[in-house]
Amino acid sequence: MTKIVSVLMAMILSACSNVSIINNDTQVRKENKTEAKEVVSESTVYESKNESIGDTKTQQDKVINEKDILPKEYITKTEENSPAVKEYCDKTNEYFAKYNWGKSHCHDFTWHHVRDSYWGNPIAWYVFGNEEETEHQNVTLIMCGVHGDEITPIKFCYDLMMDLKSNPQIIGDNLIIIAPLVTPDSFFRKKPTRTNARGVDINRNFPTQDWAKNAIKLWKTRYGSDKRRFPGKYALSEQETIFSVNIINLYKPQKIISVHAPLTLLDYDGPSFSQSEGKAAKQLLVQMSNKAGKYKISNYPFFTGSLGNWAGNERNIPTYTLELPNSDWNKTDTYYKMFRTALHHAIQDNLSYSEKETKSQTLNQ
Ligand SMILES: [Zn+2]
Repeated sequence: MTKIVSVLMAMILSACSNVSIINNDTQVRKENKTEAKEVVSESTVYESKNESIGDTKTQQDKVINEKDILPKEYITKTEENSPAVKEYCDKTNEYFAKYNWGKSHCHDFTWHHVRDSYWGNPIAWYVFGNEEETEHQNVTLIMCGVHGDEITPIKFCYDLMMDLKSNPQIIGDNLIIIAPLVTPDSFFRKKPTRTNARGVDINRNFPTQDWAKNAIKLWKTRYGSDKRRFPGKYALSEQETIFSVNIINLYKPQKIISVHAPLTLLDYDGPSFSQSEGKAAKQLLVQMSNKAGKYKISNYPFFTGSLGNWAGNERNIPTYTLELPNSDWNKTDTYYKMFRTALHHAIQDNLSYSEKETKSQTLNQ
């Protein structure tokens, strides 16, 4: 029954503008705990506000350390995960074992979970920092596993989570949202796939302004109807895309890092480098590259329906696509080590502060 409601709501709401999604999210973040909890029972209905549930209780428990005492480890398990999330973590461990990655430590975190994939896998996310505070200066969203056959990024996100757990000083006052496996159906299968269970490339399904005009047309002409790049029948048709859009509208990140493989480059979409915001974003791009051994920066073209286009170009959120060298699952430790300081820097870099600095430097010249 709830599935039918969910599908109907998705059909109705997919026609709505993104503006209404933003409004919903804003309202929800201001709601009190009781109201937020009530939303849980409707969790399968497509409404952006659903992605905000589960936040409040977790946070209340998290802020237990006195400010002047630095904890040795960030507390990541504050309540029991739901049976669905436990099952998801078991599955994650199974697949980690398959790739000889050891334990995922998925069970060590209290996950947020509202939306499921087509095959019923949770699309889970975790938040480092105090999300009770509504006015965050520096929010970073990190997404991995958008393409399930690019498996190294998934381990990469988990490595980052364990790193932050053990090094809470990196987190500071910042808010870090991590979605380590955006498209679980593609990864949780014998042979992982780029597209989701319904055969859609999530990174072509974002509702960019030109989607209706170009997505299908370009897919046919430029990609020869390559099944691996099918953009979907309409924009925002997939649970994974809805999840991504909602999470961005809800947390309003200052920057997004989307981890892929294997193009071996760092790509940027966002405010133009000639704008003041763009200057700060460019500075971070160069610094990330430098801290990762002068990793190649490439201005990769953006696509109809891609995250970079939707969030970066159309919403002016600096969006960094980190393409790891390849999907060789034996190299995951090397990749994380390579980008560790770059990631720490990116998390801590408050782009708006940097912008002020740039301005003052200009004035002094
Ligand atoms: Zn990819």
